[in-house]
Amino acid sequence: MIRTLQDYRQSGFGGQFAWLDFVNSQERDGFGCLTDHLRNPLWLANFLRHFHLADSLPPSVPLRALGDLREFLRGVAENLAAGRTPGASDLRTLNAALMVPARQKLFQHQNGFRAELFPVRSGWPWILSRIAASLADTLTRYDRERVKICANDGCRWAYYDVTKGSTRRWCNDRTCGNRDRVRRARAAAKRRNLR
Ligand SMILES: [Zn+2]
Repeated sequence: MIRTLQDYRQSGFGGQFAWLDFVNSQERDGFGCLTDHLRNPLWLANFLRHFHLADSLPPSVPLRALGDLREFLRGVAENLAAGRTPGASDLRTLNAALMVPARQKLFQHQNGFRAELFPVRSGWPWILSRIAASLADTLTRYDRERVKICANDGCRWAYYDVTKGSTRRWCNDRTCGNRDRVRRARAAAKRRNLR
């Protein structure tokens, strides 16, 4: 059960990219059981805090809009993992989500300057636009070929592969990776017995 920011991070969330955490908010346990974390206000509040999108949960959670955005982002993640680049209609959807007024503010600190983007009006439209912006950030500043989906079909966890040769196949080697090794070992044993 996710209550604190620590629980959130220990449950495999809290990565670098808000949009990937958001995609994974619909979590499959690897055995066909589904958890929708968007329906858990504590998960949502921790998600917002981890990515500095809001200090606390704004009222009236727009579950429908959040679900639609998640479905869109899931499609993009699945496509990227299969080597397909987002198309023109994906870009239209993404740009529509990004169209929320913002202002830039400059800060000075010891070593120089830092610019940050602020909403003209904070709240859910701003939050949705920032989640979409994190995908835009991945596409423009990172290696889109490293966006992957766990090879366990009962899991489908989306992640950014930071391994040197981009060789990671599982969300977690101890769970899904291990399950695959056990399954293969069993299949091999079965084949041996049939001979
Ligand atoms: Zn997995």
